[in-house]
Amino acid sequence: MIVSNRVAVPSRKAGASAGGLAVALNDVLRARGGLWFGWSGRIGAEQDDAVLVERGNVTYAVCDLSHEDYEEYYNGFANRTLWPLLHYRLDLTEFARRDLAGYRRVNAYFADLLLRHVRPDDVLWLHDYHLIPLAEALRARGLHNRIGYFQHIPWPSPDLFLALPNHAEIARALCACDLVGFQTERDAHNFGRYLVEEFGASACEGRRMSVAGRELRIGVYPVGIDRLGYARTAARAGRSAFIREVRESLSDRTMLIGVDRLDYSKGLTQRLDAFERVLAVAPEWRGRLTFLQITPKSRSDIPEYAAMQRALGETAGRINGLYGEANWTPIRYVNRSYTRGELAGLYRLAKVGVVTPLRDGMNLVAKEYVAAQDPEDPGVLVLSRFAGAAAVLDGALLVNPYDIDGTASAIRQALAMSGDERRWRWNAMWSRLAETDIGGWAGRFLGDLDGLNGVPAPSD
Ligand code: UDP
Repeated sequence: MIVSNRVAVPSRKAGASAGGLAVALNDVLRARGGLWFGWSGRIGAEQDDAVLVERGNVTYAVCDLSHEDYEEYYNGFANRTLWPLLHYRLDLTEFARRDLAGYRRVNAYFADLLLRHVRPDDVLWLHDYHLIPLAEALRARGLHNRIGYFQHIPWPSPDLFLALPNHAEIARALCACDLVGFQTERDAHNFGRYLVEEFGASACEGRRMSVAGRELRIGVYPVGIDRLGYARTAARAGRSAFIREVRESLSDRTMLIGVDRLDYSKGLTQRLDAFERVLAVAPEWRGRLTFLQITPKSRSDIPEYAAMQRALGETAGRINGLYGEANWTPIRYVNRSYTRGELAGLYRLAKVGVVTPLRDGMNLVAKEYVAAQDPEDPGVLVLSRFAGAAAVLDGALLVNPYDIDGTASAIRQALAMSGDERRWRWNAMWSRLAETDIGGWAGRFLGDLDGLNGVPAPSD
């Protein structure tokens, strides 16, 4: 059983949604047969039972949330408390007891609905920070099944986590799982250190911890992409009419690309400032570069996001006003989203991929940018050292996104890089991408959870 905040029920016609993660999870469910439970995305009355939709041997079970649930659990505790805190943004972290109560209430509601469908031999896999208390709520209802949890976003150092007024309650709830997985060694280490320092947990061999008489395993499972599939999509998209049009619109200018949801964790203002710094200190590049920043809006009903949306629009406008010409706009700032195929083609067209989050669990855009390149003439990745992806993509130019001058120099270095250097850097990253290919990811997590190392990954 997979449980995540949102469940996208695949339509009969289109099949599963195109996101790599959704595909991987659907594959694993199809291979083993199973159920995927979560919120339908709709606001309505709370239900006594989930609505079930069957697709082959996979059942999708969804429920609605009340308006109050949505405000307190989703907008409130998940996205105004945990999201900023777990992304190291104490300055943006808000805490309201009412939201925490809503967060607990929705997890208890999910537990009640789930219990109706769990069979004795089911293994449960919970996803992400919306569902931290769920395992404990299920245990309190007498469930003894194996439960694993995967944290898609970062886990900060204990110093930061301690700022959460109910930190012990939240961290203890995760200890009701049998396995807790993280994206990076650093996240796993941070969580383990918290357990030792706050709960007096003892570390047994490797990553097995004993917490209050229960054994918990901590593991690292970096999420990846389907690198070969993505490379094929990009090569095909590179020849599409859409990409031809974009290429023509550039009139021989060099394109740089950024692709991020509109979120303060992505370092967008700092990135545009760094691009401005390039134009300021290297006038020879003026008129010769186009920075395409694709930024679909997200979570617009949270005030911090609305404020960022305004600030970013202003920054892009200011830079375009300052450096633009009648026949040249330095930044193309776009708030719509693109399909997987369109994006893959755009990545391939861009000579520099600029991925500079202030903090990111993994960042799949960085991996997609690499997979999309033409091996004969690859672009250069400028990557924040604070993205989980930096642990793997060591052929990138790693930057500290808070250092505007440093990021600007890395962009200039990328623009001037020789073909030989671009190729060896790209080759290094391309081979490392194989280590975290999405096909094996779910199999590795579930293999560890089953205690059956070596369970073949469904798509291998
Ligand atoms: N994405 C997309 N269309 C867009 C912008 C983004 O399909 O217009 C996809 C992108 O290809 C990537 C995902 O959204 O697979 C973003 O994942 P990432 O890990 O980079 O960031 P997150 O949004 O999960 O924080």
